[in-house]
Amino acid sequence: MTDKKYLNNLRVPTIENPLRILTSACLIGTMCGWEGGHYSKLEILNLSKCKNVKIIPFCPEDYSYGTPREISDIHGGEGIDVLNGNAKVITESGIDWTDGMINSSLKMLDIAKKEKVELAILMDISAACGSQVIYDGNRKSENPIYQIGMGVCAAQLHKNGFKVISQRDFESLEILYSKIIKN
Ligand code: SF4
Repeated sequence: MTDKKYLNNLRVPTIENPLRILTSACLIGTMCGWEGGHYSKLEILNLSKCKNVKIIPFCPEDYSYGTPREISDIHGGEGIDVLNGNAKVITESGIDWTDGMINSSLKMLDIAKKEKVELAILMDISAACGSQVIYDGNRKSENPIYQIGMGVCAAQLHKNGFKVISQRDFESLEILYSKIIKN
């Protein structure tokens, strides 16, 4: 089922039974970015104020490596390749974070299952949370390259049947809002 079809078929949530949305914690203002900042977005902050929405925030990189920390990117593939053992997550200084990132993805999956999340909205570009676009190799290189693909944690959720959208997928967010404001 496409993301759009899935979103169109989402139930209309109520205060008694709110829509359960997993988000990258940085999107709702948690200071968990690699440099200790946040990347909050109004569209997501507004969601967190809706009484018929339950936001479940999680920062996978903070879980494994704390904050602040180095920047890391995927080398040799995308998130699913990391999960399959065919690509690695390497920090700016060359440290291999592959195992920690996989652990983080499993923790995120565990939370998604326990909370029975109905949608994940994750921060694009991140090697962990990227849902549409990520870097192909080191973003700090002379010629950084983007690739279409998911980060490790987004890929883990997707692989296990959870719907993941980007914070800048405004078409999907519009469908989501149309459900939420119906109530
Ligand atoms: S994008 Fe994901 S890993 Fe990066 S700071 Fe936000 S929640 Fe943490």
